[in-house]
Amino acid sequence: MNFWTYVHLFCLAAYTAGFFYVIIKNPYAVLNWVLAMLFFCFALWSACNAILYNTNTTFELAINVSKIQGVAWSSFITYYFLFIIFLTNSRKLIENPATYIVTMLAPALFVHMNYQGEMLNCCRSEFFGMTAGWKTTPWALAFFTYYTVMFIAGTSVLFIFRNRTRIKIEKTMADIMLTGAVVVFVLGSLINVIMKMMGTYLPLDANVTFLIFMGGLIYCAEKYEMLSMTGARIADKITASINEGLILLGADGEILGANSMALEIFGYGAEKSGAFPVEKIENSMRVVSGKMKEGVDDFEMKVMTPAGEEKDVLVSIRAIEKRAICIIRDITSKKKDETELAELVEELKRSNEELEKFAYVASHDLKEPLRMVASYVQMLKKKSSAKFNADEMDYINFASEGAMRMDDLISDLLEYSRVGTKGQKFTETDLSAVVDRIRDILKFRIQDKKAGIVIEGSLPVISADITQMEQLFQNLLENALKFSGKEPPVIRISSVKKGVFHEISVKDNGIGIDMQYKERIFMIFQRLHSKEEYEGTGIGLAICKKIVERHHGKMWVESEGEGKGSAFIFTLPA
Ligand code: ADP
Repeated sequence: MNFWTYVHLFCLAAYTAGFFYVIIKNPYAVLNWVLAMLFFCFALWSACNAILYNTNTTFELAINVSKIQGVAWSSFITYYFLFIIFLTNSRKLIENPATYIVTMLAPALFVHMNYQGEMLNCCRSEFFGMTAGWKTTPWALAFFTYYTVMFIAGTSVLFIFRNRTRIKIEKTMADIMLTGAVVVFVLGSLINVIMKMMGTYLPLDANVTFLIFMGGLIYCAEKYEMLSMTGARIADKITASINEGLILLGADGEILGANSMALEIFGYGAEKSGAFPVEKIENSMRVVSGKMKEGVDDFEMKVMTPAGEEKDVLVSIRAIEKRAICIIRDITSKKKDETELAELVEELKRSNEELEKFAYVASHDLKEPLRMVASYVQMLKKKSSAKFNADEMDYINFASEGAMRMDDLISDLLEYSRVGTKGQKFTETDLSAVVDRIRDILKFRIQDKKAGIVIEGSLPVISADITQMEQLFQNLLENALKFSGKEPPVIRISSVKKGVFHEISVKDNGIGIDMQYKERIFMIFQRLHSKEEYEGTGIGLAICKKIVERHHGKMWVESEGEGKGSAFIFTLPA
């Protein structure tokens, strides 16, 4: 045993460690196995050198060992090349059968030729043990050429990848490996060639310098997860963490694989995808494959879990070449919410209708006794006025006024409740014509107030309850005339189309509104002024809002404040 024997034994240990390190990192990736094989070649090479450089080794043993070593150095360049194409995910080379034919056949041929004694001179006895020298035969030259071509090809793929990738860590990784490759292969080979030309031989050959290359790889594996985060691993992690069930289907709809979410949706807990209980969901999947054959991409269906829970799922099928990926989303709770919401809306509608009917019936029926009270008070006033003193007469008058006011309120309430219960069918309604008609009805008031009503642009023709449209514009115009300031009122009516709605504005230059009351003025019987200042009951805007809402629109007020005019804006579907 001499120094060089120990050096090669050390290398053997290092490459063996590298071999297991790489496999443990990710035993499911081709990339890792290819790299492990590359390390294995160098381990074998080192083991053989350790024997050859041992001064006790006999000539007979050296011949056999150098033949075994030939297996390692005929194949390592193959694994280097394969490693690079898998690392850089060079699809064209990976998917081309020629890649494997060349990289497998060539080493086999060289191993064979080495066994035939066509490539090496074995063995010379050197001062440190036995060595094998190259013969100058066509096979030896062919091997050199193969080695050089594969090295240049692999390194070029890495170089192109380095320049193409936009991911910084991939660039850094490629740089480290390129440096390693150049140092090991180029300098290693040069040293060998120069030494040979000088007629000496240094036992420091490629399998020692290759330690540098391995060091670089392990550094990249540790720092950048080069060997564990392969494309397939990343895809696995994504599919495992995704919140949707993914099932890969074959051409006939058979299940090829699934992620854990798919299992959860079908009620089988998060087991390994390998243990997917295919038979259990075959019935559900039959529906899916049926749809797949019909060419339906998206549909909803029900599935039953083993625990007897019924689930609603949304299924999307996307074809990938001859297979299909089935994306499954659990929409049970969404469905439940939707149903609950629909029920709630229905309930609300019903109670609203009931309330409207109640208001209608109550106000309608209240009119009758009220009329009786009013007319008897009136009669009392007429027939017995002589018998009452001044105070008693006042009481009679208050009672009469109260009855009249109550009659007004009940009438308004009746009108309000009629918006919902006694609405007409929607017909084609020209809003310009509606405004003209109202202008006509209000002409004396307009003249009185010296008011101007301007339609800016044109108003649309929509599908609406024409009577209610008239009521809406009449209420708004009456208000604009009523709540005018000192200046003669100018009322501008305009319409703009916003999406599927017309936004209509009735703007005046009147007393304006303090915006803190913007909600209140639309409430029933809510007013901002006393009867003495401005007459009215406070029902007008409430009716307007209800009409707009019956037409599926919205209504609101805009005003810059008191004395600055106001704009009543509402939307109506186009
Ligand atoms: P009423 O006109 O009977 O008071 P409305 O419901 O029509 O009832 O209006 C409610 C309140 O909104 C009014 O009392 C008034 O204070 C305010 N208002 C309505 N229209 C206007 C307007 N054009 N300018 C200023 N204030 C208005």
